[in-house]
Amino acid sequence: VSSLVRCPLCLVDDDKVVDSRAAEEGASIRRRRHCLACGHRFTTYERVEELPLMVLKRSGQRQPFDRRRLVAGLQAAAKGRPLSGHILEGLAVEVEETFREAGGGDVPSDAIGRAVLERLLRLDEVAYLRFASVYKDFGGAADFGRELQLLKATAPKHH
Ligand SMILES: [Zn+2]
Repeated sequence: VSSLVRCPLCLVDDDKVVDSRAAEEGASIRRRRHCLACGHRFTTYERVEELPLMVLKRSGQRQPFDRRRLVAGLQAAAKGRPLSGHILEGLAVEVEETFREAGGGDVPSDAIGRAVLERLLRLDEVAYLRFASVYKDFGGAADFGRELQLLKATAPKHH
């Protein structure tokens, strides 16, 4: 399921998203788009789908997907690394959207963890390894609050 987005200049539906970030406190997603037909750049705001996206943990617990917690976990993993907050937010938005576009519903925490790691590996190896170790120990990337605590406990002290 892909949304139809037409270029406001040439009206062709063929564009590449060059940047995604949360807007309106997470209620919508602002995208910078580049029309592949005419080269025009434009911005769209999309409402976050109202479809519930639930994380199914290995313990059998279900909880609503919480992008802010994911971003917090990513920020902890990327501490001291050259990754800006908006890059990490974009990653979280992309992962969330992948699952929402696939229909939402119950998504195993493992699948979310893998989707995050796949993207993190392309960005920064150190952040990837940190996130991966915590994710493995806690059996699911949904335990972001606990991951954050662990990272705080194990992060090297800077003097
Ligand atoms: Zn165009």
